[in-house]
Amino acid sequence: MNLEDLPIRDDLRGRKPYGAPQLEVPVQLNTNENPYPPSKALVDDLAEEIRRDAAGLNRYPDRDALALRADLAGYLGHGLTTEQLWAANGSNEVLQQILQAFGGHGRTALGFEPSYSMHPIITTGTNTEWVSGAREDDFSLDADKAVAAVEEHRPDIVFLTSPNNPTGTALPLETISRVVEAAPGMVVVDEAYAEFARSGTPSALTLLPAHPRLIVTRTMSKAFAMAGTRLGYLAAHPAVVEAMLLVRLPYHLSTVTQATARVALRHRAELLGTVDALRQERDDTVAWLRALGLTVADSDANFVLFGRFENRRTIWEGLLERGVLIREVGPPEWLRVSIGTGEEMSAFRAALEGVL
Ligand SMILES: *Cc1c(COP(=O)(O)O)cnc(C)c1O
Repeated sequence: MNLEDLPIRDDLRGRKPYGAPQLEVPVQLNTNENPYPPSKALVDDLAEEIRRDAAGLNRYPDRDALALRADLAGYLGHGLTTEQLWAANGSNEVLQQILQAFGGHGRTALGFEPSYSMHPIITTGTNTEWVSGAREDDFSLDADKAVAAVEEHRPDIVFLTSPNNPTGTALPLETISRVVEAAPGMVVVDEAYAEFARSGTPSALTLLPAHPRLIVTRTMSKAFAMAGTRLGYLAAHPAVVEAMLLVRLPYHLSTVTQATARVALRHRAELLGTVDALRQERDDTVAWLRALGLTVADSDANFVLFGRFENRRTIWEGLLERGVLIREVGPPEWLRVSIGTGEEMSAFRAALEGVL
């Protein structure tokens, strides 16, 4: 029997699942993880915490994850409170809950592409119609055109990704404000890479007090070096959090996940301590690729989009043959490399020189 033989929903027929290759390769620079593993001290503290919690695993976890949400509010600052924070298994689950609450049949979500491939996948997966808006040739967003797209389509949800994946482009607050003011529904600013932004790039968190329909999503998967934990969160008006309670599954965040995230937040000086080095490595990578004569998008994230290649597949394969895995993503002539350790980036440079 094949998938096509099952009585699957018509709108899922022929769809492809999210699929960044997970290959065993010496240098993995394809999913924007932080390359630095946790220290022994952090691992020990975590093991101790989990050992204590393990004695109570016959009970369900705190359904509302109040202690974790308080810690997240403390981390974000900006005067945010527990009632304004919500957490789930990765920001992808947060995004899905947002779509469940504010999207659905007969509703639409608008995003400006190229952007994060999961936004349309989660949108259509929740029976919401996806509308694709455009970016400029340099991947920036023209505020007038963005507002015009919002006025034309009247979407229930608008996605703005800043810094954007896979291009690295951050949005000025002015553009976000104008979109929020024009939008008839919710506006989600996906800030998965906020901690990597170049200095002087403000967060949309500063706009929350003025805009009750604005949602800012974050994750511990990238800068926080905790992709394996699966912890994402949002900050918004308390009423938005009440909407999340309507759609979340009971006890969605395990005791172990909540405890791990809290330990990570306690150790944030260590975990975020690698961000400066990664930003420097990113800026050096951009400069090096440009010196090679390649076209490179400005990046405020922990990855760099570069091109343009008539046949990017051959470049991607050539790198893989040399033990370096990057990502074939974004517009057809571009490739994306995540920023790794200094050693990994030397391997990437050597491999790319070999391929070119
Ligand atoms: C990586 C990424 C996420 C994070 O997803 P998690 O589910 O939190 O791991 C969210 N948004 C964007 C744009 C990303 O690139």
